[in-house]
Amino acid sequence: MATIFTRREFLYGTGAAALSLTLANLEFACGSPEKSVALAPPSPTAATQPQVVPVAVPDYRTWEDVFRQLWTWDRVARGTHSMTNCTGACAWDLYVKDEMVWREEQKSPYRASSPGLPDFNPRGCQKGACGSTLMYSPSRIRYPMRRTGERGEGKWERISWEEALATVARGIVDALEKQGPAGIVCELGPNVGAGPNTAAPLRFFRLLGSPATDSMAQIGDLAVGSTITLGNPHPCGSSDDWWRSSYIVLWAMNPSATRMPEAHFLYEGRYHGAQLVAIAPDMNNSIIHADLWLNPRPGTDAALALAAAQVIIEEKLYNAAYVAEQTDLPLLVRTDTRRFLRGSDVRRGGSDEAFYVWDAKQGKAVPAPGSGGSKTLDAGTLEFDLNFSGAATAGEKSVPVRTVFSMLREHLDKGYRPERAAEITGVGANTIRQFARGFAKAPAALILSQWGQCKFLHADLAQRSQILMASLTGNLGRAGGGWRAGGFFAPEGFALLAMQESLGLMDLATFAGKNYVNPAATERLFASYYVPGTLWHAVHGGLDAISGDPRHGDASAPRPAREYLKEALQKKWFPMFPAPGKSPDVIVSIFGNILRHSRNNTRLLETLWPKVKLTVDVNFRMNETSRWADIILPAAYWYEKSDLKYLVAFIPYVHLGDRAVPPLGEAKPEWEIFALLADAVAKEARRRDLKPYTDIAENERDARRLDEAFTDRGRFNAGDQEKALEFVLSYSSQTKKVSLADLRQAGAVRYRDVGPTSGMSGYYSDYSPDEPLVPQRWFTEKKQPWPTLTGRQQFYIDHPWFLECGEALPTYKPPPKAGGDYPLVLSGGHARWSIHSQWRDQRPMLRLQRGGPLVYINDRDAAERNINDHDWVRVRNDLGSFTARAKVVHYAQPGQVLVYHAWEPYQFRGGRSDHAIIPSPFKGTNLVGDYGHLHWAYAHWEPNQIDRDTRVEVERV
Ligand code: SF4
Repeated sequence: MATIFTRREFLYGTGAAALSLTLANLEFACGSPEKSVALAPPSPTAATQPQVVPVAVPDYRTWEDVFRQLWTWDRVARGTHSMTNCTGACAWDLYVKDEMVWREEQKSPYRASSPGLPDFNPRGCQKGACGSTLMYSPSRIRYPMRRTGERGEGKWERISWEEALATVARGIVDALEKQGPAGIVCELGPNVGAGPNTAAPLRFFRLLGSPATDSMAQIGDLAVGSTITLGNPHPCGSSDDWWRSSYIVLWAMNPSATRMPEAHFLYEGRYHGAQLVAIAPDMNNSIIHADLWLNPRPGTDAALALAAAQVIIEEKLYNAAYVAEQTDLPLLVRTDTRRFLRGSDVRRGGSDEAFYVWDAKQGKAVPAPGSGGSKTLDAGTLEFDLNFSGAATAGEKSVPVRTVFSMLREHLDKGYRPERAAEITGVGANTIRQFARGFAKAPAALILSQWGQCKFLHADLAQRSQILMASLTGNLGRAGGGWRAGGFFAPEGFALLAMQESLGLMDLATFAGKNYVNPAATERLFASYYVPGTLWHAVHGGLDAISGDPRHGDASAPRPAREYLKEALQKKWFPMFPAPGKSPDVIVSIFGNILRHSRNNTRLLETLWPKVKLTVDVNFRMNETSRWADIILPAAYWYEKSDLKYLVAFIPYVHLGDRAVPPLGEAKPEWEIFALLADAVAKEARRRDLKPYTDIAENERDARRLDEAFTDRGRFNAGDQEKALEFVLSYSSQTKKVSLADLRQAGAVRYRDVGPTSGMSGYYSDYSPDEPLVPQRWFTEKKQPWPTLTGRQQFYIDHPWFLECGEALPTYKPPPKAGGDYPLVLSGGHARWSIHSQWRDQRPMLRLQRGGPLVYINDRDAAERNINDHDWVRVRNDLGSFTARAKVVHYAQPGQVLVYHAWEPYQFRGGRSDHAIIPSPFKGTNLVGDYGHLHWAYAHWEPNQIDRDTRVEVERV
């Protein structure tokens, strides 16, 4: 064997240009061409200038010897993709040579939850497998930069960190002087982690007293139908529980493409005897594994679910005892007002939050267990009459009442018999019956319905209808059963690091001043410095002019959506900083890409950007939002800093993303960036002697002391990200007695517990390390009331806006004609080849999908328009057009065109992406506030930005 040379010795020592060319070519063959670009020294500074060491020419006999050098390494570090919103979490080994990560390999530290269950090994996806390619790609940002041309023109100059921070600090203090902390807005995207580098910007903006946008609904991922019904939008369990199901429904979920680490549990479940049903309009990648495929027309899912519910009730396949105990279906509704019979109706001074059921034994209305202060759903000796219709005594008078169940049954019989649903959905009546019976008769039936479903205007109605199926059959809160979206949460130590100025003085429960099991309390606590992302951009980005326009939205609503928004803001149901009518002065974008992911994104450039004096992007890669920034601060990549992946319910393990190598160029971890920025702001505020001020949550702040506050008086300084990470580990139930050294050894460790913050993921169950995670067992096993207004799964919403919009019960509403009256529906899906826009421009991924934006169109639709495969096509509607290549496919439904997720606008001709023509309407019922569980809170309740209902025409260019 020849002498082993380091890669840099090899490249610089001999001047062997021919050999380096050979190596670059070999790497290209391996699908990592960008690495050959990165072989140049990462920084021209003296500290990183490579030493030119004269060495002997190695004894390379063949090209294979050169290739073998790729498979040697100096050390192996533990890694994951800690700050990308993939809702996976996967342990990887990172192979480091000459301070570069050359490749990654899946690690297998996971065990089965209990004997007989499949384990979680191995986990990963093809994006993660080329994470180092993204890290060293040409779009990587390595130095602080300042715009020199017009915004978006692409002209930049490199500046020092001192200059960059001083410029941003001046902008922030200018804004503080002019209009206070509300004028500085953190555009917080979804690519967050759960360690110091995500806590840093949250801590910074909280201590400054400024708002951050909540991106959950703004990216279209909030399951508001679940909030309406279950009081929480994120119910989820671990994916090994799928294996215990006997009937699994993938409803708007395509795990073979978008949940790769979890998908094997489905297919193992089939070997275990489960039936697998897929419901999607197009024949997606998961459908080839299904036993039954239902392909409703896009946007008609609610009609399908309601027809299945009709069959379940008509054929008496429902679980009456469960329905009586766990749901609002036995509650009495006054038929004169269509409102629940309440304590305030029954007696003077009675509660507005006490509800009634009909007890057949006593022959009268009695308080419903679980509501009005009752702490249990246990009905004792009561005998609920689910079908009661008659009169109840309310004070001095008698009022007409009937149960929600009787109203629901009539509603379904009238509008949703399978034959009627077949006309709406295109799915045959017999197939609907087969589906309903299969679901109802299964010992444990599970609907997996993820975030693709949220991206329809009437997604809430579809979700409420799907949950109805799971509830009628008694599946919620049962192993292998229920309705699940995707759950994630932050460890308590992270929440403290983000929110508590003096760190470690108290635990989260004490900090919050209450018993912290109620996730609404967690969400509210987080919410105090957040603003709702969809609404913020509607108001300040001018999107409401389009998204609130009834021409694009729910034509059946009695008022335009923008009027509901106006009223909701007037009633202060949602916070808005700056106040409507004022403008933000500074936008700091981090962990996201607002100018890519916002629907109607070009309007933000026309309406919001011109108002803002300074836009800053903190990022590791040049994306659409960086392109339009004034200052770019380079962030370390995930392999260049120590952090945690956020906690994902699918996989009950805490994952470390470690610092395998130093940051490229002058990039820095976010903890360091925001500590330095706090220092720069404090200096500038002291220079101007800025006086203390009241922040958006009515707390006193002093920007002159921001540096002290951020570092907790020098305890956690700019270089202390690892110390901050140790703090997170030591204060979190999930990592009790787990040190950073332990995590470095293992890569991932099983949760020790789940802790109070897990309620945010809709978990609500005691945790055992030897069982899969099954959500909602506190309600079904401990009989604890659900976190809803009625204390029950709530299918009837008697808020006046729901009543006037005809949405009191789960119902079907036709999809709107968003964008105008055009014959095709522009649909989409999360991509197989990227996590949002990360990896979207990476060559290994582009090679798998024709290298650029594509419009998938059905072969018949294409033929009618004289469109051939790979033709350039224009997709247009009332908002404008974009241009891309056509991919003619059989698996798209006629009438449907698909653009998969997350192309950057600059990847399209003319810089206009599909999002430029998406109006994203919202509706009044999603703007209700002050109604029990329907209130604003972080990642809990606001309208989604949506895209799936967009109407278009496609023509050959
Ligand atoms: Fe796993 Fe996400 Fe990394 Fe893919 S990108 S390997 S899903 S952590």
